[in-house]
Amino acid sequence: MKNYIKIDEWKIIEEGFEPKHNLISESLFSLGNGRMGQRANFEEAYSGETLQGNYVAGVYYPDKTRVGWWKNGYPEYFAKVLNAANWIGIDVRFGGEPLDLAKCRVDDFRRELNMKEGYLKRSFYADTGRCIVDAEVTRFCSIVDDETGAICYKFKPVDVEPYITVAVTPYIDGDIKNKDSNYDEKFWDEINKGVWEDGGFVRLRTKKTGFEVATGMKCVVLVDGKPVDFKPEPVVKDKYVGNEYRLYVKDCEEVTIYKYAANLSSQNYPVEQLEEKLKETLDRISAKGFEKMLAEQAAAWDKKWQHNDIIIEGDASAQQGIRFNIFQLNQTYTGEDDRLNIGPKGFTGEKYGGSTYWDTEAYCVPFYLATADPKVTRNLLLYRYKQLGKAIDNAKLLGFKDGAALYPMVTMDGTECHNEWEITFEEIHRNGAIAHAIFNYVRYTGDEQYLVDYGLEVLIAIARFWAQRVNWSEERRQYVMLGVTGPNEYENNVNNNWYTNTIACWCMEYAMDVALKVWFEHPEKYKALVSKINFDEDKERSKFFDIIEKMHFPYSERLRVFLQQDGYLDKDQTLVRDLPASERPLNQKWSWDRILRSCYIKQADVLQGLYFFEENYDIDTIRRNYNFYEPRTVHESSLSPCVHAIIAAKLGDEARAYEFYLRTARLDLDDYNNDTEDGCHITSMAGTWMSVVEGFGGMRVKDGKLSFKPFLPKKWTSFSFHVGFRGTLLKVKVDNGGVRVRNLSGKEITVIVYGQNEIIKGNDELVIEVDRKTVTLAKVTVYPPSPKMSQES
Ligand code: BGC
Repeated sequence: MKNYIKIDEWKIIEEGFEPKHNLISESLFSLGNGRMGQRANFEEAYSGETLQGNYVAGVYYPDKTRVGWWKNGYPEYFAKVLNAANWIGIDVRFGGEPLDLAKCRVDDFRRELNMKEGYLKRSFYADTGRCIVDAEVTRFCSIVDDETGAICYKFKPVDVEPYITVAVTPYIDGDIKNKDSNYDEKFWDEINKGVWEDGGFVRLRTKKTGFEVATGMKCVVLVDGKPVDFKPEPVVKDKYVGNEYRLYVKDCEEVTIYKYAANLSSQNYPVEQLEEKLKETLDRISAKGFEKMLAEQAAAWDKKWQHNDIIIEGDASAQQGIRFNIFQLNQTYTGEDDRLNIGPKGFTGEKYGGSTYWDTEAYCVPFYLATADPKVTRNLLLYRYKQLGKAIDNAKLLGFKDGAALYPMVTMDGTECHNEWEITFEEIHRNGAIAHAIFNYVRYTGDEQYLVDYGLEVLIAIARFWAQRVNWSEERRQYVMLGVTGPNEYENNVNNNWYTNTIACWCMEYAMDVALKVWFEHPEKYKALVSKINFDEDKERSKFFDIIEKMHFPYSERLRVFLQQDGYLDKDQTLVRDLPASERPLNQKWSWDRILRSCYIKQADVLQGLYFFEENYDIDTIRRNYNFYEPRTVHESSLSPCVHAIIAAKLGDEARAYEFYLRTARLDLDDYNNDTEDGCHITSMAGTWMSVVEGFGGMRVKDGKLSFKPFLPKKWTSFSFHVGFRGTLLKVKVDNGGVRVRNLSGKEITVIVYGQNEIIKGNDELVIEVDRKTVTLAKVTVYPPSPKMSQES
């Protein structure tokens, strides 16, 4: 655990240059706009430890699989979002010597990620041996114009008499390799490049997939506030273009380089137009200018924050943590494009290949549903809808038939990329999360038309998979599901994982509920779908219900808990708290077979099911299972604590809920797991948000209404969050006195607070005073807005 990040409510700040923190900081200070993103590498050369990372969303390469022992059915490729051309590079040389912070004495180094306005700023003094450089660099990825970014690089040489020769070379370098390349291959070919007087471009094509990306720059260089009046020297190398400016700079004279850059991909333009469009884009942004772009960036971020900020009073460190999570989620996915998704590390590193996991549906969907326009989540669902054909092919490859779909565990374009048998073939519960996300979306937004147009088709394909994946056990006279891996990846090839069996039955039942609804309300559309997918209504429906009725769900009569899988109780049941600290984390200290034989649970498994389907279980059942499983859980996935926080909160265990929340709230900022250098845990950040809103806020959707049951963590003075719901925007504030729900929209809404229905007219505020001693509602008032209140919102 590190704690070198300074606490600030709106900024991530690093002071003092510690090369040993550089890889971590490169992840933490990452920038992105949903369309492109990058690690916080330096613009100038850096010979110390660094992971260069620039990524263009959706541009991937199928890297040939590398495994020790090939198994039939493994995918041959792992598609990864590619490390793409470096557009930030600016070489700076003083008296011929490159500026390289790894080789200088560095003073007053400060890096600051301004989350409120969406930019990264770095300042330092560096003693290069030739001079002292006083530098300040500001950079951002525009969320207004999402194919672009801009840099303002300013420096002054100090203590030079009378001047020093300075060479400044902004460049684009496409000679980039993924660190995780399986066979040390480079994935890009050069198609074209060009240098202009004030910039240049490189156009590259990915091998195999044939994506083209044109990356270009336009630069303005000023000395002492005046643009230089000569042409730079072009520098052209393999996949590289630069413009070298040779300057004579007087003592303390300021040099400013504005670098405007753009990444245009053939996903969005015909290849023959890429260069022309790139030039147009660069002309447009450079004409607008850095300051105006930055002001627009700040305004756009302000708008986002108005919809999704969480304000925590009384704990600046928690405030910084939650804003960091919200900021990174918004940098990763904006929902503009249904071909894009959310990699577990977003644009902050190469781990997990930038591919899509069940994390999106299980963890990110709730975040985007409440904090963004419904179309954002809809696009995440459409992403899977469009990949349905490939999910059917994937199932076919594994021996399933008749339109059964198995969505991949890891994917870019719908094809399975993962190649560990226990996950690829066995961790099939992911199919359930995809169905659940459809349910969640419709429950939250009320957009039932989605079911008619897309949802039902996916649901039936998933239901068909489950119906074929189970088998009838003569012995038990029940259906069973053998050889699976549940969400707890510390068990493989188990029989009857309770969670998987539960979600499988739920999927079949939900699919049939939706089918009935569509049949009744949209008979024509229903008929068309039945014939498109050859749905044999009577036969398939009765098969589904037969399975639902006769499915085996492992259960302990003695303990009255669901069993994670058959035979779970045969394991040694020593609890996590009785394990010596020196043995943890298990995944680093124990052999894999020892982990598999143990009772220890990586992340919520039975409890994931109780979280998804809480309405189907009484509170005592949830409590018994929570009390049984949590002490056996090691939380070695960052996705684990949030589900536990939400359940603990539901059970009234406020202290434990807060403890779980703390485990992820600053996971990356404090490098809790010593792995932030690989990238930030983007998908688990959504889980942290869930801990606050669904955990402490107790937010749920009940019968088409938002319901809250909040409590205030002891360390906080208050917290508030914004959620959008069916055309309204609410600000929910919880403090010691009670709860306030302000309707920031003009539309009336009925909410449920502590079980009571309350109507809040447009712009009104509902105030609920709670007697904390007796935990009873003392008073409920609905206030029309006062002038002060409307200003505050
Ligand atoms: C978790 C999975 C998750 C993956 C990517 C693994 O450690 O066990 O549930 O999908 O990470 O975040």
